[in-house]
Order: sequence, then structure tokens, then C-alpha cells
Amino acid sequence: MTNDKKEGFNRSMVITGKSKNGYGFTYFAKRNIKKGACVLKCSGKLIEHQTSHLSIQISPNQHILPSKWTGGYLNHSCVPNCYIRTGTGDLPNLIAMRNIKRGEEINYAFWMTEYKWQNGSAEKNIRCKCSVVSCDGIIHSFSQLSPRKKLKNKRYISDYLKKFCSPVTDVASPSRTKASSR
Ligand SMILES: [Zn+2]
Repeated sequence: MTNDKKEGFNRSMVITGKSKNGYGFTYFAKRNIKKGACVLKCSGKLIEHQTSHLSIQISPNQHILPSKWTGGYLNHSCVPNCYIRTGTGDLPNLIAMRNIKRGEEINYAFWMTEYKWQNGSAEKNIRCKCSVVSCDGIIHSFSQLSPRKKLKNKRYISDYLKKFCSPVTDVASPSRTKASSR
């Protein structure tokens, strides 16, 4: 349980700086990070709505607004180097998906925590700037993913999203999935 030793920002793992993709500030690996390591523990003020592109959803009706040091600078990538593991109190921990080299920009996919973009969300229909070859083009929320992609990424998402990617619901009756996302 080494992850519980520190609350919030893990300063031993990341530093802040300007994103090369024009996203403003973001985090960079301060050192080589091993696959599976906890890179960041998100925390912050609890809010009821997705009021800002900085907020991170932690349950159907709860979002947290992290500070600069607890996840507020996290950016999206369609091919992220970190994923979400739900931690204490449903707060997301950011885990290295692969080995990350010192100096690499830290990112995750926003669909790993956000079920659906709410009105007023900055990410709604926003063009993705992650610059990877397989970029989705826009930043998707979880409800916008194909049933196949939901299932494929089940181990990378917040616990509360996992119920939306059961094989029975997604494969056998995609229309039900669609109906619940609108
Ligand atoms: Zn992208």
C-alpha cells in the first residue's frame, strides 16, 4: 500500500511546465517512471457539476475540482501514458500505463473518468490536440465510445464507469447503451 503514504500531488514523480501540444500547463515526468507506479493522486474540492474542463468525475453526481498540485493540470491524450485506478474515497489515482521516460508529458484519456459532457463543459465538441496518429479528432467522453472500446479499456477506467461496459449490455443490446447516454 505504498500509494497511501502521500496524499495528493506526488512531487517526486512530476513537475509542471507548458504543454508542447498547446494545452497550457501540464505535468512532465520528473524521472523515469515504471509501469504500474502511482504518478498522481487526484484530490480537490467536491462539486456537483462538470463546471470546468479541470474537473474530474468521481461518481455519477460528483466531480472534484483539483488544485494545480492535485491534478488540475492534467491533459487528455487519445493514446495516454497513464490510466485511472479508483483510490480512497473514489478519488482517482493516476497510474503509469507503461514505462514513462523522464521529460515525457503526463496524460490520461478524459473518457477514463467523464461519463458524459454536460452543458457548459469546455470539452464538449472540443478538437483534440494530442497529436498522436490515431487521435480521435475530438475529446470523447466515456458515453461516446463504441461498446468495443469501452470493454477493451475496462481496466483503465474509474470504478463507477465499469458498469457501463458489461459484455451483455454492450454487445447484445447496443441500443440500450445509446439510450442511457442521452
Ligand atoms: Zn487526440
